[in-house]
Amino acid sequence: MIELTTIKKSRREILLLFLFLITSPYCFSQSERINVGLLSGKKITRLLVAPVSDVYSVFAGDSMLTLIKLNDVLSLSLINDSVEVKNISQIFGKFKSVQIIALAKLATLKIKPADGKTETHLDDDLHVNSGKNSLIIINSVDLDNYVAGVVEAETGYSAPDEYYKIQAIMCRTFAIESKGKHKAEGYDLCDREHCQVFKGRNNRKPEIKLAVAATSGIVLVDSTNKPIFAAYHSNCGGQTDYSENVWKTEKSYLKPVIDTFCISSRNANWEKVISVNDWEKYLVKQNKNYIKPTDSLYCFYQPERKSDFELFGTKIPLTQVRKDFKLSSTLFHIEQNSDNIIFTGRGSGHGVGLCQQGAIEMARRGYSYKKILGYYYKGVRLVNYSQLKN
Ligand SMILES: [Zn+2]
Ligand SMILES: [Zn+2]
Repeated sequence: MIELTTIKKSRREILLLFLFLITSPYCFSQSERINVGLLSGKKITRLLVAPVSDVYSVFAGDSMLTLIKLNDVLSLSLINDSVEVKNISQIFGKFKSVQIIALAKLATLKIKPADGKTETHLDDDLHVNSGKNSLIIINSVDLDNYVAGVVEAETGYSAPDEYYKIQAIMCRTFAIESKGKHKAEGYDLCDREHCQVFKGRNNRKPEIKLAVAATSGIVLVDSTNKPIFAAYHSNCGGQTDYSENVWKTEKSYLKPVIDTFCISSRNANWEKVISVNDWEKYLVKQNKNYIKPTDSLYCFYQPERKSDFELFGTKIPLTQVRKDFKLSSTLFHIEQNSDNIIFTGRGSGHGVGLCQQGAIEMARRGYSYKKILGYYYKGVRLVNYSQLKN
């Protein structure tokens, strides 16, 4: 049995090598792969797959079903607990898992749910497994191709080139640190905010690809040589927060930093007004013994970031207040103005780690990516992740 499997695999490898040699001008390099769950959280029962360039082989286990190239469309449908594979003229069968493998390094393909409108363009390989109520769609993608896609999705197109290097290092560090987070679902990372937003290949901003290549392999490590939890957010409002204020876990490199670079950016200031009545109902919900002293007004100030709202014997984590009132950040003051409670806030996002708008401004003023990363993450080092494997 073992020998048979070995023979089958070696035949597949020989076939791949042969097809590669006749179809590709490029060389494969053995680089780190990440398996990214695509359209995760959505119920997809039929997926259309079409190459945009080059040739792909379609495998079910060790058996090659067909080759697909430009203008071919493959349909993958969930039928009971299997994936049915067919094209316009042929049904290839039903399988637990299907692998669509690029035969050239720069090959790209696109996918689209049969009932959807949005196409997603992908680098490298696609794996489609049968799930309980949905196809499980996985992009098995070269780490740097993945990083470029995440940088495009998380940063947009208007940042300075030096900033893309920062974002690339943070996204790569996160991917290495969190690889296997979705092991139970059959992939490493999802494509949503839960892990990192990934909307397919980077294809709009070539500067991102250059920044990823310029920092290829580089990750941030802490004093124990472990990849850091590279938290970042949109705008810190002038000071970043303690990790433990948001996630209850202390990290030596996620400590408050005074940041004057972001305070003129958009999202730097916000305000929200609610009625005193609603605010008191909320406080009673949080603390059933809550009693407001007569003739007292509500006021709460944060000259420095605090972990909790605390007033008249009631204590609520600021992260909870932020969530319950859908506030932009936890960095706010509260004042009472007759029948209203006014939240006056600064910043946007959780406030921990690197402040994107501050870092973008630093990059515009000529600071290097190394200086900027060292400014927001204290006591970290930049290393090539290949050094971490032993
Ligand atoms: Zn996730
Ligand atoms: Zn900031």
